[in-house]
Amino acid sequence: MGQRTYVGVDKGKGRYHAVYHQNGLYVHDLLPELRRDWQDIYHGDTAAMAAAMVDPRRVHRSYLHRGRITEAPSLDMEQLTLLEPDHDGVSVYVPHQNKPWAPVWSLHSRHRLTVTDTDLFVVAGNDEQIGTWTCTRCGAVDQLAFTTRHRRGNEPGPNGELGIVTCTACRSAETTDSLFKVTVDHTP
Ligand SMILES: [Zn+2]
Repeated sequence: MGQRTYVGVDKGKGRYHAVYHQNGLYVHDLLPELRRDWQDIYHGDTAAMAAAMVDPRRVHRSYLHRGRITEAPSLDMEQLTLLEPDHDGVSVYVPHQNKPWAPVWSLHSRHRLTVTDTDLFVVAGNDEQIGTWTCTRCGAVDQLAFTTRHRRGNEPGPNGELGIVTCTACRSAETTDSLFKVTVDHTP
């Protein structure tokens, strides 16, 4: 376990500040931790959480990275997770899978920090930082597919894309747009 990741904050206009983790967690295991911190430590104050995450007084300078989402990720980076202070959510990026010779960050998924009764997945984590995603429709655990789809008529790039998490057992899907509006499609 452990991947080279960045976790940080979307600063707008394509810029981000993030912290390098040599043994970072993928969003499957990271989201439960982020949601717990957001709730228990920051009491739902996303701006306060964002400020603390990349505070130079708390994070050693050599781990702080300032970049742009349009820049090529360095070859060994595996995931970029950004807090979205305007939306109480996180956007997750991975190097474009189809272009290993010319990497760009591409949207992997979006997730709200809030938990609601209509969520398709109940996301939980344990002290060993292992997450479990349970489908509320069929009860399957960690049967997930993360995909994105460009929304017709929308601008190119991540803002025009939808993040979709599908339960591969029952095919129900949760779709999150760039404003973090969530739509759940249950299979009949
Ligand atoms: Zn399911």
